[in-house]
Amino acid sequence: MIKQGPKRGLAVMASGAMGAAMAAAPLSADEKRLAPPDLEPPLVVAALAHPDDEMPMSAALAALARQGYHVRIVHATPGDAGPGFSGLPKGEALGAARRAEAECAGKALGVAEVINLGFRDGELASHVRDGSLARALFDHVANADLVLTWGPDGGYGHADHRLVSAIATQIAQAEPADDRPKVLYVGLPNGTTAGLPPLADWATTDPALLTAGMAYAKEDVAAAARAAQCHVTQFDAATRAGMAAAFDATIWGGKVHFRPAF
Ligand SMILES: [Zn+2]
Repeated sequence: MIKQGPKRGLAVMASGAMGAAMAAAPLSADEKRLAPPDLEPPLVVAALAHPDDEMPMSAALAALARQGYHVRIVHATPGDAGPGFSGLPKGEALGAARRAEAECAGKALGVAEVINLGFRDGELASHVRDGSLARALFDHVANADLVLTWGPDGGYGHADHRLVSAIATQIAQAEPADDRPKVLYVGLPNGTTAGLPPLADWATTDPALLTAGMAYAKEDVAAAARAAQCHVTQFDAATRAGMAAAFDATIWGGKVHFRPAF
């Protein structure tokens, strides 16, 4: 597999909310002088399984987009097997509705692109051994400067979440060090889900491992709240209305928590 196009400039990622999370050093005076004025913004790819998977990291995506990063959300499936609150039958109409919800959420978060790879929901395992999931994800991951994805737990454990994380990690770890995207797994710190019953059975992580917190502003929580309102098939009105504030008060607490994959 050949990578398409040049990697974007990682060095400019040293400022802003990503400062603590990124290993890149600030530009030296010489580098600043040499940097082309039209340097493309760094590419941040959220590699996820389904529409609404972006919600647990939504304030970070909004913050990155607001700060000028090129943020691309990639969903492997349209979520055509997940009727959620809607009770709609599984199938193409549900998938189409959820694709539209993903586009709506992407606009609310201010991200540049929302892409769906079109695999069937719940069937990603059948696209692992034949390499088709890896091929579909390859350019998105290999050309990224930063990849945000589920951790090995997949949040509440969905196999599709775990597989997208594993394949994204597999692609990144094969890249040479000087061209490897940084991969961060979103995580819920131990003890933060107790006040949020819908997340009671989600996996949590030792906070000591969550060393890549991404700070956000009030306006990013507001963007996340607007994004939550898009997912009408998945959540009832009260859940949509309260989700971002509840995340802010519990699992985020001022930062969306991530840990480096390597
Ligand atoms: Zn999902």
